[in-house]
Amino acid sequence: MPDDSITILRDPAPADIARTPQEFLRQLDGPTLIIVQGRDPSRCRALSTLLHGNELSGLKAVHGWLRNGEQPAITLLCFILSVSAALEPPLFSWRQLPGERDLNRCFRPPFDGKPGRLAEQTLTLLDKYRPECLIDIHNTSGMNPPFGVVTHEDPAHEALVALFTRRLIITDIRLGALMEISRLDFPVATIECGGNRDPAADRLAVEGVWRFLQAEQVLQLPPAGLHMDLYHHPVRLELAPETKLTFADEPDPAADITVPRHLERYNFGLVDSGTFLFWLGPRARSRMCLRDAAGADVLPQFFDVQGQRLYAAQPLKLFMVTDNPLIACSDCLLYAAPETGHSVINGPGPSELPDN
Ligand SMILES: [Zn+2]
Repeated sequence: MPDDSITILRDPAPADIARTPQEFLRQLDGPTLIIVQGRDPSRCRALSTLLHGNELSGLKAVHGWLRNGEQPAITLLCFILSVSAALEPPLFSWRQLPGERDLNRCFRPPFDGKPGRLAEQTLTLLDKYRPECLIDIHNTSGMNPPFGVVTHEDPAHEALVALFTRRLIITDIRLGALMEISRLDFPVATIECGGNRDPAADRLAVEGVWRFLQAEQVLQLPPAGLHMDLYHHPVRLELAPETKLTFADEPDPAADITVPRHLERYNFGLVDSGTFLFWLGPRARSRMCLRDAAGADVLPQFFDVQGQRLYAAQPLKLFMVTDNPLIACSDCLLYAAPETGHSVINGPGPSELPDN
């Protein structure tokens, strides 16, 4: 099974699709692009899921939809790439294969290694088929409500995200993620369906994928507009590789950072100024950096360090907080955005809603 080459599978017969997502993945010959002809085959749109092998909501939705045998409104390109990471024992527990780069950090040069070559081939296929848009479906590792992430703020990106959720982060951080290839004439959105053990995330993916595949148009907001909750300019708490991180309910003297277990409950809740977030060891400050899009360390703007304790220095939204040490230790503990998130009705003639 060549891990770095995408197999194209056209119009699979519903009866040939295995009964479970796991058996279905074993049927595939590694990373796969499934093409299903639409009622209007002159147009196509693209969907990607399982870029991370432990995030299954999108895969389950696509698997169920393929077995159902419904024809999409326009032709579907469906990328299912991290098949070997998903099937690596223990099943569905690896974000990427041990020792490999995160595939969703490889969509920019240099396209090194297996994940890099896979990313490059994906970009070539997107260039070849020229879909109208792309959604990339993920799960978070901690308890998060669903949200979308985009790199452009415009009605087309908002309409795509609104197929799944009204909560939207507009990021200017660049990491080499698939959504960063977005252009005004080719909108790409990341959909985070919710936690990877949350049945509600699976249901959200099924409903959103159904809308994405059945609608004639998915890039237009309704004439009356849509109520969206928008968050701008997130920052990323990055940890040096040698950082010792612990999850516990009292400070661990051997740890650089001790994260209380309840922290992930703050995901998308309001964290008020002065809220205690976590404990720091003596070397912690030199091992962490709150990175903004320009690469600057903006930690003092967002957090107050008082002795061994770190507090929010302003009202914040935290997201992507996880209690999974494997994920958190990879390099990023959490994201934060200033609580300037605002509700807007976007559409023809956008207008701000009063605060409430
Ligand atoms: Zn992911």
